[in-house]
Amino acid sequence: MIVKREKLNFWERLYAPAVLGGFKVTWHHFARTVFRSGPVTMEYPEQKWVVPPGYRGAPYLVKDQAGRTKCVSCQLCEFVCPPKAIRITPPGASGAPGAGNVEKGPAEFEINMLRCIFCGFCQEVCPEEAIFLQQDYSLTGTSRAEMIYNKEKLLALGGTHQDKIQKWKHKAEEAQAQDVFPVPPAA
Ligand code: SF4
Ligand code: SF4
Repeated sequence: MIVKREKLNFWERLYAPAVLGGFKVTWHHFARTVFRSGPVTMEYPEQKWVVPPGYRGAPYLVKDQAGRTKCVSCQLCEFVCPPKAIRITPPGASGAPGAGNVEKGPAEFEINMLRCIFCGFCQEVCPEEAIFLQQDYSLTGTSRAEMIYNKEKLLALGGTHQDKIQKWKHKAEEAQAQDVFPVPPAA
């Protein structure tokens, strides 16, 4: 399908509306700074922006209440990640099982923060509530390699969701309460 592009008219080709629109915004902020509520800018990084609730920052791995990795290397997040920022190395057939109920903890889990667009798909798709976008928006490093966060770093930054997420707490009871398969015929 070929998208038809409208031609710019003479007024638009002068770029005058865009320039005047820019001046309007500048004047609005100038008037606000001088006559009303003070500067609209902040002296970053001394002053930090307070992110609003629900802000989606960098994705980190979280631990359960016993300090265990919740990720089970299902690789759904790796598959769904639009810029392919996630790289997971499963433990393999000879890999040691993860602690607790985690049968297949990742041998390695990397997120390339230079690629990540903070879209939140990994958090949405994760069946284990093991990865969450947190509020970090200022990620810096002195090399590309430094911006690839490994499992230890992701877990350290993610921390433990102490109060909200108790995924494993009732896991054994829930498993026992499920129907057995094949489901026995009704009496
Ligand atoms: S937030 Fe989006 S881009 Fe970043 S790792 Fe998750 S899925 Fe990939
Ligand atoms: S973080 Fe979640 S979606 Fe990604 S591999 Fe681990 S369990 Fe699967």
